Amino acid sequence: MTDWQALYADRMGGVVASDIRERMKLLDASQIIHLGGGLPDPDIFPYEPLAAASQAIWSDRARARTALQYAPSEGHAPLRQWIADYMTSHGAPCAIDNILITNGSQQGLDFAAKLLLSPGDLAMVEIPSFIGALRAFDAYQPRYIGLPERSEDWRASELGGAKFCYVGPDFRNPTGTTMTLAEREALLDLAAETGMALLEDGCYEQLRYDGEDIPSLLALAIGRHGDIEKVPVLHTGTFSKTIAPSLRIGWIAGPAEAIRKLVLIKQASDLATSALNQMLLLDVVKTGLDASIQTACTVYRARRDAMLRTLEEAMPDTVRWTRPEGGLYIWGELPEGVDGTRFAERALLEHSVSIISGAAFYPARAANVDVRRNTFRLSFSMIGEEPARTGVLRLGALAHEMVSASA
Ligand code: PMP
Repeated sequence: MTDWQALYADRMGGVVASDIRERMKLLDASQIIHLGGGLPDPDIFPYEPLAAASQAIWSDRARARTALQYAPSEGHAPLRQWIADYMTSHGAPCAIDNILITNGSQQGLDFAAKLLLSPGDLAMVEIPSFIGALRAFDAYQPRYIGLPERSEDWRASELGGAKFCYVGPDFRNPTGTTMTLAEREALLDLAAETGMALLEDGCYEQLRYDGEDIPSLLALAIGRHGDIEKVPVLHTGTFSKTIAPSLRIGWIAGPAEAIRKLVLIKQASDLATSALNQMLLLDVVKTGLDASIQTACTVYRARRDAMLRTLEEAMPDTVRWTRPEGGLYIWGELPEGVDGTRFAERALLEHSVSIISGAAFYPARAANVDVRRNTFRLSFSMIGEEPARTGVLRLGALAHEMVSASA
């Protein structure tokens, strides 16, 4: 028998499946109320426009041939150009050479880390951070340093040496909070002083439900330097939350110098993203992106509002939560000493409500980071207001029980 354990690379050392996944298999999946993962609502996918786009490709042999052939590693040129124009019209002037199409923005995060991290390098991350980014970075064996919560504490003398800082400025996963304009400017200052790059995750930037848009780090950096070629920013974008995640179309925008290297990584990793999916997506976004964004915002705004109202009604006074202006998540904080991991486990195993414990969003081995174990993340995107309400009421009852037991 092959001893697979002995053959695994060092980087697989920290990669383990969670125990709760095993126990979940014992539950009746159809009864679970999903407030955990941030999946988009399938009711808002653009089915008819995608069907029409598909029909148009199959009825035109020249386009069908392109759709079934390998795409260029950089991506389907008309889609790259469309994204460059889109970014330009949203305050970040760039050209086709500044765009690489990726298989979702998850691949962009992986490639950026592959580009920049050698084992032992320092990676700076917001605390807490998107799990998928942390797991992608983990494979390149960095040491982590947390970006302190308050920008007053962003001192180059203490935060130097990192290769990059990973941030999701708009409606962060997992907290739902948004970086202010002053914080964005301060982070650009810190990057300039330390020489690190900024990896900006723009996953949710189109999903704003109220308040004013704030320019992205990429847009601000281009404003400062006058030209995308001079900025320290790599920006990842995606159509997963605005069109549909299964198409797996995302992009990285940045200086052409870095994009050229990233294209080589793309080539070695999977050659190219599906030409068919890129063509379908382009047909749909050309005329329909704004409408899709509007539908998503209308649906998710109502779900956010409903969940905030139910939290108010159901939770003990000592529980706090964020009030996001967009995105898909609300971050909760139980009183000190009440464990969020236990809360999430009991919610699932005893009340059939899936949520994610806050501790999951902290990097391993970060020198300056205290894990806030009394936290949890809720998502309001995937299910309707009624089942979500039932779920939150159950969470409220459990929180009351756990808070009184800990008093
Ligand atoms: N960034 C963030 C913050 C996310 O939450 C996600 C997925 N939910 C991604 C990136 C990756 O999404 P995709 O690969 O579908 O673009």
